[in-house]
Amino acid sequence: MPAFSPDSGLVTRVVASPNHDARAARVDMIVLHYTGMARAEDALARLCDPQSKVSCHYLVLDDGQIWQLVPEERRAWHAGVSSWQGETDINSCSIGIEIANPGHDFGYPDFAKDQIDAVIALGRDVIARRKIPPPRVLAHSDVAPARKSDPGEKFPWHRLGAAGIGLWVAPSQIVPGPELDPGDHSEIVARLQQALAEFGYAVAVTGSYDDATRGVVTAFQRHFRPARADGIADHSTIETLRRLLAARRSAE
Ligand SMILES: [Zn+2]
Repeated sequence: MPAFSPDSGLVTRVVASPNHDARAARVDMIVLHYTGMARAEDALARLCDPQSKVSCHYLVLDDGQIWQLVPEERRAWHAGVSSWQGETDINSCSIGIEIANPGHDFGYPDFAKDQIDAVIALGRDVIARRKIPPPRVLAHSDVAPARKSDPGEKFPWHRLGAAGIGLWVAPSQIVPGPELDPGDHSEIVARLQQALAEFGYAVAVTGSYDDATRGVVTAFQRHFRPARADGIADHSTIETLRRLLAARRSAE
């Protein structure tokens, strides 16, 4: 007998983690992660270890199996210190999905097709049951840009977008031209920060292109303009952000 009944018919196995508590908000967000460990079994052990104080609702293996660790009604501990659109208790309002991938520290292999198919199926299922708006399907790096880079620039957000998951626009083409760089201080930098903050990122509007701003720009690029995630705000980055804001406004 599993420790609890899975919330989704797609779940192939329940492995209960003790790491959860009561939610303080309604679920209206999905946060995607990679496990960032060389072996998936080590990631599973950590997500179930009471000492680690981390968990997630779902773990998607590279063969496409979906395991559930925490019931959706409970607050899993996957996001850590994080923020989006001014909310800081991201764990309370989100479903956390870990995708088995060793991550940047271990060679960052491509995500397997079967695995992405499973993430798409699971995402559709959660979105339909929880009525999650497309702009609220996010990367861990979006809500914690200074600390996290997962699931990273190899994660195929365009495939999810084509399947109706998340807010997605075709990234603006990368072209030579003027750009905003770390160290710059200007009204244009302030406008970029304002646009990033309006989109949801936790960034102070100072006009100074500081390390925190570079981290947020890199997070934005990993998700929405993954061809070059260098933290430099070129025309393509700024234009892609503008298109996303426009797409979100027109969907509201
Ligand atoms: Zn993560």
